[in-house]
Amino acid sequence: MLSQNIQQLKPSATLAINERSAALVAQGKKVYRLGFGQSPFPVPEEVVEALRQNAGCKDYLAVKGLLELREAVAGFNNRKLGIDCDANDIMIGPGSKELIYDLLLAFDADLLLPSPSWVSYEPQAILANKTVHWIDTSQENNWQLLAEDLEKACKINPTRKKILILNYPNNPTGASYEEEALLALAKVAKANNLLVVTDEIYGELNYQGKHISLAKYYPEGTIISSGLSKWCGAGGWRMGTFTFPKTYQWLLKAMAVIASETFTSVSAPIQWASIKAFEGSPAIDRYVQDARRILLAVSIYVYKKLTTVGVSMPKAKGGFYLFPDFGQFRERLTNEGIRTSTELCEKILEETGIALLPGVAFGRPEEEWTARLSFVDFDGEYCLQLLKDKPEMDLDDAFIQKHCPNIAEAMEVMCKWL
Ligand code: PMP
Repeated sequence: MLSQNIQQLKPSATLAINERSAALVAQGKKVYRLGFGQSPFPVPEEVVEALRQNAGCKDYLAVKGLLELREAVAGFNNRKLGIDCDANDIMIGPGSKELIYDLLLAFDADLLLPSPSWVSYEPQAILANKTVHWIDTSQENNWQLLAEDLEKACKINPTRKKILILNYPNNPTGASYEEEALLALAKVAKANNLLVVTDEIYGELNYQGKHISLAKYYPEGTIISSGLSKWCGAGGWRMGTFTFPKTYQWLLKAMAVIASETFTSVSAPIQWASIKAFEGSPAIDRYVQDARRILLAVSIYVYKKLTTVGVSMPKAKGGFYLFPDFGQFRERLTNEGIRTSTELCEKILEETGIALLPGVAFGRPEEEWTARLSFVDFDGEYCLQLLKDKPEMDLDDAFIQKHCPNIAEAMEVMCKWL
């Protein structure tokens, strides 16, 4: 028999959409992969070269991670985020996903999650036997968590310790936070002694290059969760980082115990090669700047096309995602038997070949017609090369139509269908 907490896990929406997409492809149908959130860009060449050079590294490494790598991550945090930390504050894990899960295992607290949130936080909380309190947000406020709503959530069972996971640039909405909003959230977090995990895995992909870490305003209670999966195009490398405040050294130690009894350490060649990514170089800076430019241009294209026909959503500020609301089409589509975001996404996939993920997978109500659109169905390596050859190139509609044909085609098909 399955454990009771495992029984509560629902089959993942991502899996269902991927299986359905694969079945359509097998039938010879065209599928636009706007359901899957993977970087369209290759790992920067220097970093790949570092991996080649270190392929022979075979030893187990320290449980918290290689010292030289932790130093490089601390340097990256100093340089990019203005965060004062050193190698002792850093833990390396096989993806930030595993580190978040280990934290939920280690720490005795309830979990506060803004809705919508990334698909894996809640299932991880279920696996770790943690209680989740969802905090609603709204499209009018760009799906951002408001300080007053956080304050209210802190009053639930007030003596119970709480963790807030705050993710920005956000998956699934593309939203991010400016200084003022972060200050307000930090104030509430501090007053209520929250442990905040800021999931800043898309931080480097803030389109303006102006990502601000919450840890700047609440250093004593914030763990920064990050890694190489998004900005460095290295999801499959499984390289995640946690940066702890000095006040939570005991938690880092507990997580190291969990790591030592489970994954042991991240693969040695990957850790040695990752030093290069965190140390950075002019070529890596250029790679990130170009990736941001391309992602911004694609996000604007999709936003313009869909909002013109009546779909509503906030603009993306960073990352790979938009969170369209198809509520405007409710009357017409209800007549076709659609009642939930899941049914809406199934219908769109069947009739247009466009794969999206339903809002319900991110904690939104079933009957709200939102979906996550991941605009990464284009050849990132090719687009980066175009910008390398011609940096002054204008990334306008014609660029998207010519060089990101699946995105342009998907938008045409979708607008026609709507
Ligand atoms: N947080 C968010 C918001 C994500 O989108 C992802 C990847 N989809 C992760 C964490 C996990 O990333 P990784 O385990 O590859 O570091």
